[in-house]
Amino acid sequence: MPVIQVVEALDLDALPPASVTRFRVDMVRDGMGEMVRLPVMVVKGARPGPRVGFTAAVHGNELNGVRVIQRVIPSIEPETLAGTVVAVPVVNVPGYLAGRREFNDNADLNRVMPGVPRGAMSHVYAHRFIERVIRHLDYLIDLHTASAGRVNSLYVRADLRNAVTSRMAYLERPEIIVHNASADGTLRSAAAAMGVHAITVEIGDPSRFQRDRIQSSVRGSFNVLQHLEMVPERAPLHSADPVICGRSYWIYTDRGGLLDVYPEVGERVTAGQRIARVSDMFGDTVCEYEAPEAGIVVGKSVNPVNQAGSRILHLGIEGLPPDFPDPGATLASWPKVVSDD
Ligand SMILES: [Zn+2]
Repeated sequence: MPVIQVVEALDLDALPPASVTRFRVDMVRDGMGEMVRLPVMVVKGARPGPRVGFTAAVHGNELNGVRVIQRVIPSIEPETLAGTVVAVPVVNVPGYLAGRREFNDNADLNRVMPGVPRGAMSHVYAHRFIERVIRHLDYLIDLHTASAGRVNSLYVRADLRNAVTSRMAYLERPEIIVHNASADGTLRSAAAAMGVHAITVEIGDPSRFQRDRIQSSVRGSFNVLQHLEMVPERAPLHSADPVICGRSYWIYTDRGGLLDVYPEVGERVTAGQRIARVSDMFGDTVCEYEAPEAGIVVGKSVNPVNQAGSRILHLGIEGLPPDFPDPGATLASWPKVVSDD
């Protein structure tokens, strides 16, 4: 069994070239006074290059990314790697243990980044995570899934005004890419504010491993590493071009009852197409909903229990404003950061 180093913070410079190291990084002491530690894997290449991070389970019940990381890391050969790959299979340890999205103070850890040194539990945890792990990176791929009661396509959220994150999103080869640039307390926006090029990959559904989605995400992740010239060239990806959406939004119910959502994730809908109905407890339809405009279903609710104001589906609107860079433009122009090792 490989040795696991217990440390207070990562020090990537101190690691020998061409090495794989497993860490447990101190985060906080819990109510029993025991240390909560993050599992972290670091592959340091034989040659200098970018530092790329993979993080999963910032929401504790979003597990596909855990398996993506467990597939990506052993497939990297440190002898041929240029740069460093840092992977955290579970960020939100209390949420993971409880099988739920939130941190153990009920806060959404992905709304309180970058946290504060002194404050609420989740804020302190967020701050230490940023300082001890994220600050060391040039690029970040944060792996999520839909939340409980919902399902997602394989899609990427990224700031598509930014040529680097736009290209990362395209190289991931998801089904759908959605532009999102809000400074909303997410790990992605906190990382971006620190100069770390970050995208969010939404890999299907919560609380399970989905083999196909995991495999696609592993291939997409290697595609990013390859275009950063970190790993040797692999067989080209023959996936369909992603559908690129300049904006997206959730459509909500305004009437409670039992909810049926008709289209599947990844399906295109036309303006006026019926997308959902709400029925009462006797089975009679009380309300129907139509798509307000043409779009593609990025994610949807699958839980029929619907209080007024529940989410129906996440609609992506195709096309980018003309002043946005083309995510699929020639890869030769890919702007690359190299850290001094
Ligand atoms: Zn999430």
